Formats: sequence, C-alpha cells, structure tokens
Amino acid sequence: MLNAHPEWACLTSKGEQVDAGRGIHMCLNTPYADYFLKRMLELVDFGADGFYFDEEHMPPAGCWCPACKDGFAKLTGLEPPPNEDHTSPLWHKFVDYNNRVVEQAFLKWRAGLHAKRPDVVMLISSNSYPAMIERHLTQRLWRATDSVKTEFHVAARKGKYQFLDRNPQLFRPEPDVRIGFAFDLSRDAADGRPPHIWTHGVPDEKSLLFATGGLLTHGAIANLDMNEKTIPNPSFKSSFDLGRKVSPFLAGTRPASWALIHYSELARDVYATDEAAWWAREMLPVLGAYEALLHARRPAGVLTDSQFEEGRFGGAKVLFLPAPEHLTEPMRKQADAFRARGGLVVENRPEWRWAEPQGAAPAREAFLKFLDAAPPCPVHATGGHPRLHLGAFENPERTRMSVLLANPFTWIFTGAAEKGEEETKARLDQAPAPGKGVIVTLAGRRPLKVTEILSGNELEIQSAAGGAWKVEAPEFEFLSFLSVEFEAAKP
Ligand SMILES: [Zn+2]
Repeated sequence: MLNAHPEWACLTSKGEQVDAGRGIHMCLNTPYADYFLKRMLELVDFGADGFYFDEEHMPPAGCWCPACKDGFAKLTGLEPPPNEDHTSPLWHKFVDYNNRVVEQAFLKWRAGLHAKRPDVVMLISSNSYPAMIERHLTQRLWRATDSVKTEFHVAARKGKYQFLDRNPQLFRPEPDVRIGFAFDLSRDAADGRPPHIWTHGVPDEKSLLFATGGLLTHGAIANLDMNEKTIPNPSFKSSFDLGRKVSPFLAGTRPASWALIHYSELARDVYATDEAAWWAREMLPVLGAYEALLHARRPAGVLTDSQFEEGRFGGAKVLFLPAPEHLTEPMRKQADAFRARGGLVVENRPEWRWAEPQGAAPAREAFLKFLDAAPPCPVHATGGHPRLHLGAFENPERTRMSVLLANPFTWIFTGAAEKGEEETKARLDQAPAPGKGVIVTLAGRRPLKVTEILSGNELEIQSAAGGAWKVEAPEFEFLSFLSVEFEAAKP
C-alpha cells in the first residue's frame, strides 16, 4: 500500500517517511485506516477470532504528514510545531493530537469489526505507557481495548528510566513496585480486564513458573513466549498445567481492590515540559502509595481520570488522590459521593515527601497510618517474604474470592533468547526461599470454606482479632492460590 499510496505514509518534521524499524509507518489519519479495516474484515470472514496490534500504532514523536498537520491546525487553531521538542508545550499538544488519531482509528476499527462479529477481540499494545515515562498514548485508548498488551519488564528496563539517572535527587522505586504497578495499571485502565503480558526469552522451567505466578497474582494473562526454534519445549509444560488448573477460578472475576490510587494524566500534563516535576509531583506519590499498599499486602488498584469522573470505584473503600489540586468538577463530586457512602478519601499532603530518597519511606508509613480510619480491608496477609505480592479477585455473585500470594518474581530474565541461558544461571540464585508462615486475614464476611488450589487442600479457618478470620497458607515455592467461598448475599 505504501507503493500504491506513498501519501499515506507518516512523515517526520523534515518531511521524510518514518521508519518504524519493521517498515514505514502508515498514517492512521489517512484512508489507510479504512483500507486496513477492510482487510481485517476479510480475515474475520476467514474465521479470525481476534487481532493483536503490536508495537507503535503511530510514531510517538508525532506525524507531520499533510493530514496530521491540517487536522492539528483545524482542531487547535495552532501551527504544528517545527520539530520534536520535549520542552515545548506546542509539541506536547501535537502529541495529544497524535494520541487522538490512534484512539479514533481503534474506535472506528472496533465498531467495524463488532458490526460484523461482536465477539472479535482486540489486544492493543501499550508501548511504553505502563512505564509512565512519556505521553505517547492515553488512558482513553485502554477503555476501548479488550486487553492491554505490554511486556513483563517494560516498566523496569534501564533505557526507560534514563531520566532518573539524570535526576538523582528523585527517589527510585524498586523494580517489583514499578512492574507490579505497570501490570495493575494495564489491567485497571481497561476497566479490570486482564492485560496480556508478553514474557519472552525465559529459558528455564523455574523462572517460567515464577513469571506465571506473579502475572496471575496481578490478574494478568501470562503470554509465555516459546521461541519457535525450541518447539516442543518441555520447560513450559508445568506453567501451562498451572494455567489450566487455576484459570477456572479467575475467569469472569473482577479485581477486589480495597484501595484505589488516582493516576491523573490531567495532573501529569500540567508538568508535561518538565519530566522531573512530573515525576516528583505526580508519578512518585502514585508509586509511593502503591508501594505502601503492596507491601502492606492490601489489594489496590488504579483509577484513571475518566473512570473517576464516572464514579467507577467498584467495591473500593479507600481513594488516594496524589494531586487533589488538579481535580475536575465531576471528580470532586464523585469524591464527595464516595465519602458520603462511608469511603475514606486520602488527599496527598505536602509533608509526605514521596519524591525524596530519604522522604519516601516515612511518607509510606504516614500514609498507611491514615488508612486506619478506613472501613476494614476484606483481605490482607502477613508473614512470608517482605516483597510478597497479594492479589484478590471476586466473581460477580461475590460468592468466591480468589486470593493469590506470589513469592518475589521480578528477578527472572526476559529478553533475547540467546542471552537467556547465561543470564538465568546468574539469576537463579536470586530466587526467594519458599514462602512460609503467611497468614491471610479475612474481614467483613464469614468465609465458609478456603481451599488451596495448587495442592487441593482445604485450609482450617480460625477466628482472628476484631471478629475477623484467618488461614495459614501452606509453604509455597512461587505461588499460593486460595479460593475463599462465601454464602450467597441475600437479595
Ligand atoms: Zn499523519
């Protein structure tokens, strides 16, 4: 199509075609988007069940083709910027326009595909979005996708955090915090649908099991990539068996988040031209509160701007506002309604110095103290590894809660397959000791039965302080999966 219609190619600010590394970028602001839909519909006729849109959909720096330049001028009344310039508000506005082009194309494709077959699924790659280091793509796209595609280590890759090297005055969250948040953001920005996490180059069975356990704990689909040259590869069998065993307990469930953290792209955009300020004022309070909840083993999730405005709080009882000064009027109203229903709204405070290396830990502690005033958390855990991750998911009838406990898992290698074996030998000794003495406390509703799904053992339920109940998870290597059954709620 590039040969037939060179005018459909994306252009750089210098007017050259944009090489995406795998070919020339075609602009979704041209009739190419309609041509592409036509070809997808042909594939649906042949029986395609879904589409996996990998990598960049438009050049992240923007497209200077005539359609984009004209479209930008028409929408904003502004001349397009002369080039990519992260210090220029005009260029950021151009990025916003580019994001809008991507969203419009996917909305059109979704409508077109669903008109033909409503159950065709669309997995859309989020590029760097979960790493939160650039303004390419927005939360609006994820609400239109069936599943956000990202990669296991995308939020902890060195190249993604060069600006932290440039800004050593900023606190640097640990990789497991960044990775856990990236999985949860990808899940919750798509209204709780499981993200599709591509996990590639993992060479050994043990690492694959840790990867799978960690991904399931965050409600993600473990897309374990099997290198074609190694098929059939017996290392994958135990992970696939694990998936088969636990999937029935996760299918159709929703995240049971007790606390929601508002990730405000509106607030972030106020600091768009100053990356250090955007991290200090918005990202590090978000990640700091997330780290506090993660390590207190309380189920937490993410709330985007549009979800906030629509009041999509699920069953959450705590709402953290990292940038309360940048709320819109509908958000203010929703926060008031959340309070009126008995929820706890915690606004960020200037004395919580999330962004400072010495200030982050005291800020987490002070933040957690505030949560003592919240309605009880339905599930939390104590004991085991300090970096244990907990996930909780409920079925729509609320008769079953799946509680997942993952031993630390972000130490595994992902990347180029040829590097995998050597890297893994160096990393396997970072695998944690088996999880022992983990106590799961359930509050609010009396559990009828708790089963550990991997072993098939029913666990003894004991009374705990404050009218709560507790169970002890049996020792586990990478994952413990508790299925908690409750009585059906009375109508
Ligand atoms: Zn264009």
